[in-house]
Amino acid sequence: MNIYYNEVKVQMDALNVKVVKFGGSSLADPEHFRKVKEIMDADPARRFIIPSAPGKRFSNDNKVTDMLYECYNTASSGDSIDGIFARVCERYNSIIDGLGIDLDLTEEYNHIKWAILHHAGRDYAASRGEYLNGLILAKYLGFDFIDPAEYVKFFDNGIFDSETTNRLLSKELKKHTNGVIPGFYGAMPNGTIKTFSRGGSDITGSIVSRALSADIYENWTDVSGFLMADPRIVENPKGIGYITYRELRELSYMGATVLHEDAIFPVRFAGIPINIKNTNAPSDEGTMIVAHTDVYDTKNVITGIAGKKGFCVITIEKAMMNAEKGFGRKVLEAIEHEGASFEHLPSGIDTMSVILNSAEIADRKERVINRICHSVEPDAISVEEGLALIAVVGRGMVKSKGTALRVFKALAESGINIKMIDQGSSELNIIIGVDENDFESSMRAIYNEFVD
Ligand code: ASP
Repeated sequence: MNIYYNEVKVQMDALNVKVVKFGGSSLADPEHFRKVKEIMDADPARRFIIPSAPGKRFSNDNKVTDMLYECYNTASSGDSIDGIFARVCERYNSIIDGLGIDLDLTEEYNHIKWAILHHAGRDYAASRGEYLNGLILAKYLGFDFIDPAEYVKFFDNGIFDSETTNRLLSKELKKHTNGVIPGFYGAMPNGTIKTFSRGGSDITGSIVSRALSADIYENWTDVSGFLMADPRIVENPKGIGYITYRELRELSYMGATVLHEDAIFPVRFAGIPINIKNTNAPSDEGTMIVAHTDVYDTKNVITGIAGKKGFCVITIEKAMMNAEKGFGRKVLEAIEHEGASFEHLPSGIDTMSVILNSAEIADRKERVINRICHSVEPDAISVEEGLALIAVVGRGMVKSKGTALRVFKALAESGINIKMIDQGSSELNIIIGVDENDFESSMRAIYNEFVD
């Protein structure tokens, strides 16, 4: 198979380092561990592997990470963690037994339990999910175990230290032919364990890919890549074959999940493509995330649609607003002063609207409004809740005329009132604001207009 990225055609078979990350559902039980081994064995270029903690085996099962957070919470309130901790150990022992490997983690369990009871911290507790799964996987595959606590570094303020990490990791990984690097955590300068936010093993995979200058970062999960729309809203949406980092950023920001939002940055920096693959259907091509591509879906024009509910609009009216210098700045300063950030800023001659995340300003809405009134003395100011935003994203828009028209036509024909329109200057997206009650039908109308 050939892939195209950065305008270069690459022979997939000739690649020599692939970094491979498996999500929690791909490592939830022995059966999935076996599938993972088959995938690893199928390609010797798959030399470094990043595991998540075991995820759910069935719909009302528990993720091990959640169980470990519960251990921490229970210990913090002074109650016994014997029951819940024993269930965590059972999860791992059932994997070890099911695989028939010769590994006894009793000492590890005892140490972890002791550390949780002796205030090793919330992040430490959560990180043990990946740590223990990494030990099992290393033994099962015969790979070296590389503990990210020594190489993935955070500053004292908790921000990820990308450059120190890259230096330390590149140096270390050169010493190994094959390795398992548990995802999700690293350490602070004083050695305390620190995790990324939930789903953060995706970030570890990206960091390791950058450190190795990998040819590709394969991210294996339980779906065959990104879909053009949320399947809970649009029935049976098509998959996305190719997507650029920028398009993905737009879609993830607006709610498309699969990959952690921050996982894009390290590989984007190094121009490494990400391939989202399905552990349960390994021959599906999945989604290829690349820096640039000249693969366009000329028929569908758009790459995907995503959206979120839960926004509000503050509309400020003042006659001759356009002539008043610093008006916009004062409004934004008022919002900034209350520690909020804005999403969009559509404006007219004598009106300006600011779109904000309702949950983020719920406890300071009054203060934001008072501050705006005080600083710009508007003729009228109003707040409207219940706005949903929809992003229609596609690199093909630059090349085709009439995309916005088709979006508006589709909504009009479905009797949906558009409350806001914003087209990004890159012509990569069109953002539409609609009433929350129209959210699902708008998504379907737009999807059906573009995709057949
Ligand atoms: N195990 C962690 C979580 O459940 C991190 C991950 O899976 O990426 O969020």
